Amino acid sequence: MNQTIKTVIQPVAASLLLLALTACSPPADTASEKAAETSSTQSKSDFPHSFEKVAKNTWVMHGPRELPNPQNKGFMNNPGIVKTSAGLVIIDPGSTLQVGENVLAEVKKISDEDIVAVFNTHVHGDHWLANQAVKAAYPDVKIYGHTNMLAEIEDGAGDTWVQLMDSMTEGASKGTIVVGPDNAVENARVIKVGDTTFKIHNYGVAHTKTDIMIEVVENSVVFLGDNVLALRIPRTSDGTFQGNITAINNILKSGAKTYVPGHGPTGDKTMVEAYLGYLTLVYDAAKKAFEEDLDSSDVLAITKKTTTAYKDWPGYKELLGPQGAQAYSEVEAAEF
Ligand SMILES: [Zn+2]
Repeated sequence: MNQTIKTVIQPVAASLLLLALTACSPPADTASEKAAETSSTQSKSDFPHSFEKVAKNTWVMHGPRELPNPQNKGFMNNPGIVKTSAGLVIIDPGSTLQVGENVLAEVKKISDEDIVAVFNTHVHGDHWLANQAVKAAYPDVKIYGHTNMLAEIEDGAGDTWVQLMDSMTEGASKGTIVVGPDNAVENARVIKVGDTTFKIHNYGVAHTKTDIMIEVVENSVVFLGDNVLALRIPRTSDGTFQGNITAINNILKSGAKTYVPGHGPTGDKTMVEAYLGYLTLVYDAAKKAFEEDLDSSDVLAITKKTTTAYKDWPGYKELLGPQGAQAYSEVEAAEF
């Protein structure tokens, strides 16, 4: 690429991707909380995160809440391990090569067995750029992702995420390259790994166009990706309210005991229902405003009254207004 063009394009691409990342991620908490977390992760060689058992043969590492920075090397998601009779399966190994290497060292503390498969929940790079570390250590590993995720990576989505991580971590992710899924899956696909059944759920556009939720049948666990976040207001601009609500209503029918969100603490169905409640209240307020011939800006007056239970969730103040407007435009589009 011509050098002049390249220097112009890169900052634009980076700022577009920053928007995408904040769409994916929980909003940053208060400045003081952020500072406290940053100082606790100051040592560069230190990786102060470990896996917790959340169900039979299932562990989750609950990642940091702040956005990618030089200290966390981009780490901010919830990698998961499922132990099967044929080896280990990893869900969303993390955001960069460096994070992947740290996560693999923590996996070893749970089990010495080989990693035989990886599932990637969606195209946002904070969840899957660490595939590279897994593939380097286990060249035969199968990496599964939704058909649309493979297509978006083919179109360059992975490279732009690599650039974004490099810029946000100020080079701490250097060496990270795109290693995307090599096995495309769609809704209702069942993959047996040894004695364990992985069932894929996708109900159309939800958090993004590329989401899969992974039900681990024998363990009664669902990995939700970013279709559900725990205890925080989502960024919704890469998906739709209606689609996300549909996805959640469908996954609740699994009757699973344990649900793992893309960010925030693992819980039972009440955690999922709380998140669904927020999305539904915003969408219902938008419908009400539309039916009463009000403007998109009037949705906020309704949601301010109906969503008070969520007022302490990070992101509430900044996002309630824009999300009312987004939901209103979805209602409008559905009418025509
Ligand atoms: Zn996301």
